[in-house]
Amino acid sequence: MKHSPFVLLIAILCCVESVLAQKKVDPEQQMIRSIYDETLTQGEAYENLRYLCKNIGGRVAGSPQNAAAVEWARQLMESYGFDKVFLQEVMVPHWVRGQKEIARVVNSKKLGTQELNITALGNAVGTGPEGVLAEVVEVQNFEQLAELGREQLEGKIVFYNRPMDQTQIQTGTAYGMAGNQRRSGPSEAAKYGAVGAIVRSLSTDFDDYPHTGSTVYTFNLPKIPAVAISTNDADLLSHLLKDDTELKLYFETHCQILDDVMSYNVVGEITGSEYPEEYIVVGGHLDSWDLAEGAHDDGAGVVHSIEVLRTLQAIGYQPKRSVRAVLFANEENGLAGGKKYAELAEENKEKHYAAIESDAGGFTPRGFSMDVSDEAYERIQSWKPLLMPYDLHKFDKGGSGADISALKPQGVELIGLRPDSQRYFDMHHSAQDVFEIVDRRELLLGAAAMSSLVYLIDSQGLYPKQRGK
Ligand SMILES: [Zn+2]
Repeated sequence: MKHSPFVLLIAILCCVESVLAQKKVDPEQQMIRSIYDETLTQGEAYENLRYLCKNIGGRVAGSPQNAAAVEWARQLMESYGFDKVFLQEVMVPHWVRGQKEIARVVNSKKLGTQELNITALGNAVGTGPEGVLAEVVEVQNFEQLAELGREQLEGKIVFYNRPMDQTQIQTGTAYGMAGNQRRSGPSEAAKYGAVGAIVRSLSTDFDDYPHTGSTVYTFNLPKIPAVAISTNDADLLSHLLKDDTELKLYFETHCQILDDVMSYNVVGEITGSEYPEEYIVVGGHLDSWDLAEGAHDDGAGVVHSIEVLRTLQAIGYQPKRSVRAVLFANEENGLAGGKKYAELAEENKEKHYAAIESDAGGFTPRGFSMDVSDEAYERIQSWKPLLMPYDLHKFDKGGSGADISALKPQGVELIGLRPDSQRYFDMHHSAQDVFEIVDRRELLLGAAAMSSLVYLIDSQGLYPKQRGK
């Protein structure tokens, strides 16, 4: 068959156009595509998380499981052949829960004896075998507590029952708004002579799981035993208290604070080719609470951070700056690892260029929140067209991550990965935070989002005006 010259011309033009179109794809676009392709097809974060959750499990600072997690992370990063893998010594508190945790209403006019789902707050002292038996006073906040005063609170159990605000779209905001009840509530109650504190679980769900989390005792006040109660039982207790002001509750916990223990931040590094003395950190915390496996909090952040280095290496990207995965010790009850990392960075005169933390779960990433300078903010905004095709839409100013926050005084640009937050607080710090609730694909997308941002920060630079890069 013969083609007319016109048809041939069209065919040639189409060919030229497609070659030109291929040339138009800029290298940044291509590199981000490779990052996503590599992570989504070869990513190992999910299998790594399975190992951490199923073979090691919950890993409270100072526990043998935490020590096992340190060794696992060190060996894993060495097996990937990163340029450097090392540990940083950190002294951490060692709180143990103890076996038995019980709570019951003992004299309800409606129900008689009623068992309640509670768990001790992290860092709390226990009641010991004698338990605490007292009348219960329900409050919503510290103002109400002050109004009631010692006269009505002495010898009582204070029950904080302010729920997380369901109308907040960002559940982290609601968590922040309700958080002081757990953190400072027990000590605030102790000011007025209370003998125990019960805190409504910081959860967006209504179920029977109590959610633990740290409480911080004020230095010069008596330490009173403190527990979290499930949201369903908080509602039940509140209901029972309505017309039963003499209601008494018994609770018993056996937690203890033991001597501090040596733990470690685990660090893996790909050393930079042009500015090896400048660091970009990706991090999460290796410790977790003990009620479950710390899958979302913060197993996800741990495997995300390792996956970033694995991916950059796998696609053959040689960073200009040194990129470090830092698995911080003891975020949950004291931030010792984050503080130590910042202290050593200062001591060793390491210039940290940027730090990105993943500590909001392994859910579908939505973008990033940034605690950064105006110049860096503008720069990151300019990368939106490169990241929005991957469904990353949030590029807001805001918080970053607890572990990296200690780097702030050194002028480090701080960024937090922001996954979808709707389900995180349903299971956060409760027995539900297990491997099975993490979705493989969502987890991998989080790692790819972090890798892409690390790549852009490294290759494009955050301060083009200063260095032309
Ligand atoms: Zn966390």
